[in-house]
Amino acid sequence: MKIAIIGGTGLYDTSFLNNPKEEIIETEYGKTKIYRSKINDRELVFLPRHGIQHGVLAYQVNYHANMKALDQLGIKKAIAMNAVGSLNPEMKVGDLVLIDQFMDFAWNRKSTFGEHSVNMTNPYCPKLRAEFIKSAESLDIELHEKGNYLCTGGPRYETALEVKVFRSWGMDVVGMTNSTEATLARELGICYSTVNLVTDMAAGITEVEPDLALHRKVVSDNIDKLKKLLFTTAMNVEDYDDCMCQDLYNKAVEARK
Ligand SMILES: [Zn+2]
Repeated sequence: MKIAIIGGTGLYDTSFLNNPKEEIIETEYGKTKIYRSKINDRELVFLPRHGIQHGVLAYQVNYHANMKALDQLGIKKAIAMNAVGSLNPEMKVGDLVLIDQFMDFAWNRKSTFGEHSVNMTNPYCPKLRAEFIKSAESLDIELHEKGNYLCTGGPRYETALEVKVFRSWGMDVVGMTNSTEATLARELGICYSTVNLVTDMAAGITEVEPDLALHRKVVSDNIDKLKKLLFTTAMNVEDYDDCMCQDLYNKAVEARK
């Protein structure tokens, strides 16, 4: 069984893989770098979303090449991590949030392959979400099991007014990557779920200024539990081939015929 782990801000190193082999995958949308590793019955493919260094900002990430590469490799399951700001005082710096819904405000980028209209009522794979929860329990890692994610286009941070409005809408966390990645995954029929690490409280909730160096420090302080959770989830998830995500993809493709 093949499964991809998509790493975000602060998760670039491949030490949790067994003898990883670097590979460049060429797609019609450009190239992307992945690391392949075989552990027991699993082929793990690690894809650092921003490339191996954080030189690429969220809005510059080649989401299309990343997700298409997974598709070309025959991957039907992908789990990910994203660094987020929190709008919810219950979700504190260092907390993990298994988001279940998103609002897409990333209007400065293309968030589709443009082939069909997929059903996104539930944007994340229920089976992968359930495995994240199970794995977190077995590892004694605390996880907020639900969360509303607001995706901005970036690269700038939010204004105080935006944060106030987003909070009034019931948004829990804000980031710059996830709605695009989740949508492209569903458009390819890839089961996808992501766990978010809170790296700061959003502007207007705290006096502390947003700062990428601080984000990285919070990630490095929490990276071990995050890696453990991603790795355990990837190793424990059952090898299913019947899922809502695939059904919705098939229906979308069928509707275009
Ligand atoms: Zn699924």
